[in-house]
Parts: sequence; structure tokens; C-alpha cells
Amino acid sequence: MLKSQETILEIDLSALKHNVTFIKSKLKSSTKFLAVVKAYAYGSDAVEIAKYLEDLNVDYFAVAYTNEAISLRDAGIKTPILVLHPQPEKFKLIIERCLEPSIYSQRVLNEFITVAEKQKQYNYPIHIKFNTGLNRLGFAEAEAETILNSLKTTEAIKVKSLFSHLAASEDVNEKDFTLNQIKSFKRIAKKMIDNLGYQPLLHQSNTSGVLNYPEAHFDMVRCGIGLYGFGNNPEINKNLKPVGTLKTSISQIHTIKKGDSLGYNRAFIANEDIKTATLPIGHADGINRLFGNGKGFVFINNQKAFIIGNVCMDMIMVDVTTISCKEGDEVIVFGPQHSAESLAESINSISYELLTSVSQRIKRVFYR
Ligand SMILES: *Cc1c(COP(=O)(O)O)cnc(C)c1O
Repeated sequence: MLKSQETILEIDLSALKHNVTFIKSKLKSSTKFLAVVKAYAYGSDAVEIAKYLEDLNVDYFAVAYTNEAISLRDAGIKTPILVLHPQPEKFKLIIERCLEPSIYSQRVLNEFITVAEKQKQYNYPIHIKFNTGLNRLGFAEAEAETILNSLKTTEAIKVKSLFSHLAASEDVNEKDFTLNQIKSFKRIAKKMIDNLGYQPLLHQSNTSGVLNYPEAHFDMVRCGIGLYGFGNNPEINKNLKPVGTLKTSISQIHTIKKGDSLGYNRAFIANEDIKTATLPIGHADGINRLFGNGKGFVFINNQKAFIIGNVCMDMIMVDVTTISCKEGDEVIVFGPQHSAESLAESINSISYELLTSVSQRIKRVFYR
């Protein structure tokens, strides 16, 4: 078969299934599974991933913004979708498309009640988010009282879940902090449940929370990065399979003579004769400029080739002086054998950022 010379992101759906199975093996069978598919399912493809996960019967999806959830509904996804960071101007749309908002402040709660009443809703599901230490979004514990008072004024909404988010679940050095977040969440949840008179779902754990804090699984867990094959821990990573392989191919090979420069701003000057390969992938595709000038690397015929010179918008050049290769050869940017995490680490970044940076102009190809 002729190999593609296009830059593509291959997505292995069996790896996705494997990761779901592995993560579920850490849960009690009664614990619900929410799959986080925000940011194009961590840079892969939200619709295809969500369809596949829906077939695997995940209980919930979460996205960050309302428009992400609408794309899923447009594609026929029926599973409940939690919108983690909805904006009030989208509340009408949220109700129309049966999406479930995270309500994180009194302002947002008031606005949602107004819209839900205007839309003549009864018991519309909402999710109340508490801040237990991340200090990003969420009600303070001290606001429980006022939330309960607001809820008493209306029948338009009903609390489907109470949740919070861990700040450092992957970091063993922050265990005390995390345990304290869990304790605060339990205390808040008890107070809310005692006063609501019914029992919403409780959830607090992301992937690393699932793996490191069984006591924080509660009724549901919210998994993102683990689904895509990364567990923020080398031991855990052995059990997970990266879902994406970013590949490209060699467009042209050059010999650069000692003293000649390469690329924009002549950022690279050869101090001996070298051989370079030009690849059709650049900063517009998610190869951050920080990877330039010897930091980042790709793999050609299983050998590491460093990016030299500045990263261009649509191309990079790599040093292949000691690699036997030819134009048209396959190049792996990251994949199961060449982890996105270690490439990300070369510029002090993380798998999350590299994966979600893969631009939409790169074709996604699915296989099992
Ligand atoms: C992104 C996100 C998650 C998923 O986190 P992972 O570390 O990718 O598993 C869970 N909960 C919230 C609130 C998030 O924003």
C-alpha cells in the first residue's frame, strides 16, 4: 500500500476502548463514568470519539463550552452532556439542546434560574460546582446557605450533581492538600444533601484522582487524559495506550554545507556539513516554536531527529545527518512508541497541551 505523504493524526479506537476498560477496572461497578471530550477530545475528534464512547455506554460526557456540546448534539449524541464552563448568553441554547450546565457562582445561578423559568422548565438538571482549593471556578463552601435559599425559590431547576475539581491529584507531594480537598467536598456535600432532601450525584476526580484517590471516586468520575492514553505517571502509563499517532513524511532532503544557514532568521548555522529533512508540519499545526533550535524531535526509521532552526508556520527542518532515510519516508512526531509526553517535556510542557494543539487542518484517520 502506498503510504500517505500527508500529515495525519491516526486515532486508534481499540486503544481508546482499552483505556476505558483499564480505568473502569479501578472503579466500583456502581461508579458512573463521565468521559471528558472537551477541546476536540483532547485534540483528536470529539464527534468520532463521543460516538464510539457512547457505544461503550459511558454515562456522561463533559465539554468546556456550549458550542462544543452543540456539535455533539448535532452529530446525534444522546448521552447527557455536562458543560463545564457555560456562559450565561448561551443558557437558552443549553436548555433547547438538553445540555446540563455547571453552575459555579451566585451570578450564574441567578441567570440560569431566570432563563429556565422563562423557558417554563421544571426540574431542569444543573450541576453545582464547589471550589475546594483550585481557586478557578466554583462556589465557596460558605455560599452553601445562599445556594439552598435560591433553590427554594424555584421549581425550574433541580440539582443533578454536586462536584468539585482536584488541583494536584497527580502530585504525590501534594497528598495532604488533596486529602483536604476531599474532606472539604464531603463536608459541603453533606450539608447540601441534608438540606436538599434528595441525593444528587457526587463527583470530584479527574484521571489522576481516579488512579490515586479511590476515596474520591464518589458516584462518578470525570476522565479526560487517561482516555487518550496518559496517566501523569510513568507506571500508570504502562497500562494505558496512547490513542493518537501524529505522522508526516519527508518532503525534501538537503545537504547543508559548513557555514551555511538554515531557515528563517538564519537561526541555524551549520558548523559542519549536515543532511536535513524538511517536513510538512509547522507551528500552525501545533508544533510550538519553542520546539525549534534543537529542543524538539521526531522519529525517522526509529531514530531521533532533532528540529533545527526556527519552526516555520507550515514546516520544520530536522537533522538527519546520521539517519539513513529518503524523501517520502514516514516520520513519527508522537505515538505509542514515541510518547507525546516526552516530546512535550522537551519544552516544559505537558501531554495535554501538545495533544490539544494538533491543528484542525490535520486530517484525522480512525482505525481499530
Ligand atoms: C478537564 C477536566 C477534567 C479531566 O481531567 P483529566 O486530568 O484530563 O482527566 C475533569 N474535570 C474538570 C472540571 C475538567 O476541567
